[in-house]
Amino acid sequence: MQIRIGQGYDVHAIAPGLPMWLGGIQIPCDKGFVAHSDGDVAIHALCDALLGAAALGDIGLHFPDNSPEWKGADSKMLLARVVEMLSERGWRAGNADITIALQTPKLRPYIDAMRSTLASILGLEEDAVSVKATTTEHLGFVGRGEGCEAWAVVTICKD
Ligand code: MG
Repeated sequence: MQIRIGQGYDVHAIAPGLPMWLGGIQIPCDKGFVAHSDGDVAIHALCDALLGAAALGDIGLHFPDNSPEWKGADSKMLLARVVEMLSERGWRAGNADITIALQTPKLRPYIDAMRSTLASILGLEEDAVSVKATTTEHLGFVGRGEGCEAWAVVTICKD
């Protein structure tokens, strides 16, 4: 079996009055992410990790942020397309580990729903999908509430 590792990173600015999507879940909040798509930084980092593991470029290559096709796009659809692209080349996800940095709101109540949602798109059991959340202790742009960052690491396998 061939095994590869990929990593991905994303960041989006926060603004009032926008929907906040993270890990495929809408977080009840009076602010959200400025983006061409729904701005789901966790899924975007995950997509880049998967694409990186398969050396298939990055999310901006496949889903350009100036394309009307992806305006307001549900990032779960982007992730499903990435999974399909890997599958066409014989790759399947092995596991995923995502870290989200956001000052507020606290994400703990939504973590299990994110894991379940992402696992079903990846074709994995929930215990192969980890989502972790942290604040940055009020430091930097995340700590000032100006943005949200996410990092993802994945393995992919091919028989
Ligand atoms: Mg993004």
